[in-house]
Amino acid sequence: MDADVLVVGAGPVGLCLAAELALGGVRALVLERLPGPSGEPKARGIGVLATEALRRRGLGPQLDAAHEDGVRDFARDHGSHLGHFANIHKLVPDPGRRGTYIWQPQLERLLADHAGRLGVRVLRGHEVDALESTVDSVTVVAGGRRWRAPWLAGCDGGRSTVRKLAGFGFPGTPALLRMIAGRVRFAGEVPAPGRYPSGTFLHGHGMAGVQEPARDSEPEGPVTPGELAEAIERVTGRSVVVEEVSESRRFGDQARQADTYRRGRVFLAGDAAHVHSPSGGQGLNLGLLDAVNLGWKLAAVIRGDVPEALLDTYSRERHPAGEAVLRNTRAQSALLAPGPHVDALREIVADLMDLPEANRYFADLLSGVNLRYPFPYPAAGPVGQHCADLELVAVDGAVSHLYEHMTTGRGLLLTPSAPVTDRVDALTVTTPGPLLLRPDGVIAWAGGEALDAAVKTWFG
Ligand SMILES: Cc1cc2nc3c(=O)[nH]c(=O)nc-3n(C[C@H](O)[C@H](O)[C@H](O)COP(=O)(O)OP(=O)(O)OC[C@H]3O[C@@H](n4cnc5c(N)ncnc54)[C@H](O)[C@@H]3O)c2cc1C
Repeated sequence: MDADVLVVGAGPVGLCLAAELALGGVRALVLERLPGPSGEPKARGIGVLATEALRRRGLGPQLDAAHEDGVRDFARDHGSHLGHFANIHKLVPDPGRRGTYIWQPQLERLLADHAGRLGVRVLRGHEVDALESTVDSVTVVAGGRRWRAPWLAGCDGGRSTVRKLAGFGFPGTPALLRMIAGRVRFAGEVPAPGRYPSGTFLHGHGMAGVQEPARDSEPEGPVTPGELAEAIERVTGRSVVVEEVSESRRFGDQARQADTYRRGRVFLAGDAAHVHSPSGGQGLNLGLLDAVNLGWKLAAVIRGDVPEALLDTYSRERHPAGEAVLRNTRAQSALLAPGPHVDALREIVADLMDLPEANRYFADLLSGVNLRYPFPYPAAGPVGQHCADLELVAVDGAVSHLYEHMTTGRGLLLTPSAPVTDRVDALTVTTPGPLLLRPDGVIAWAGGEALDAAVKTWFG
């Protein structure tokens, strides 16, 4: 065997998963097609839950350092620092639980360094193009040789080769809309940005883009000045001269999800498991949370702490999270489509977002903070949800924060009445009350009788 786990893809999700596995004491080997980091400025931020997941691993200071510049860039490009639902920029952030504005290449560098410090090996220039799975191992071909391990995780993006080779279904809906955009230099007059009868023209702060109904086939590669000028004319009815396009991007809003995230010894995580429109910036939140959900479970099974059945909870917990994001991005696409009926609906949604409770509803929908995993034992109150970074008060009055105690990647038990297991760290505090946290920050128990069931389920 070449490793305990082969991870295909050194995007943010593959790197995060490999780091979580290493933290759990198992050997992960990452195989990446590209010769070096991609540098493509796709995502410009990660949501609340992904931010919290990385803070639990001690990466908070780096995220905070990137955030200030990220907020400035976001406000420059969008004309508002407020988050949006379907480009209606009204979402008021929750100061207690915030995401991070960080460009994807910077995030990938941060995760690559983190994984490197934990001893993860990343082999670049190794494209996986064949896969064979048996009862006790998975073998892939990459970089001209065969690699074998007991487990494999496909983190190889939306066009995942692993997903296809391992036979996962990928049902969903085709694209309704397409978008092309970039940093643009025009010569002469530019039409007013806004919604037009056949699409939307976005323009301001050096950026310009067109969103319009999807077409039968989408060209690949960077957006050319001529292509963008034609699209602007199609939508606004006005001809323009585009001299230069840089940092261009193109994307559609097809929404598809793997039918399951595990087939035998093969897992999917990140875009390999789900694709959807980038509206609301949720892809990384979803993918990084897949990684932190799977990492500690797979490590615990490999260490022999828990039965293999624990791995089925990965798909059981994460598939509904993906479904929820597909649902809200489809709703956003419906609200972004051109036409007077949609204009009317947008006005109503925009008015609703002025109501504080509705505003919170939309913000929570995008952040996923209300997500609750289905547990196999009675779970009430906050059990099954991700825990915020609570303030802890020790018996001697010293104050610390919960996440400071979770960098080891182990579970954490606060204030047990008696010792329970040495497989989790334990801490006695006066505030908050008793709590058992899984390594991914999910509350496994919050007082009451289910402690034994919780410990047995998650820690063996
Ligand atoms: C324009 C745009 C804006 C976005 N904005 C946001 C945002 O603001 N917030 C947000 O959360 N998300 C956003 N997203 C989505 C986000 O970029 C993706 O969800 C994210 O990249 C998924 O990470 P990943 O690691 O799963 O996949 P990827 O980033 O696609 O990484 C997959 C890796 O696998 C490698 N690979 C592929 N095939 C093979 C193979 N056969 N063998 C070996 N390696 C392989 C690839 O080279 C790549 O390095 C945006 C996307 C786009 C397009």
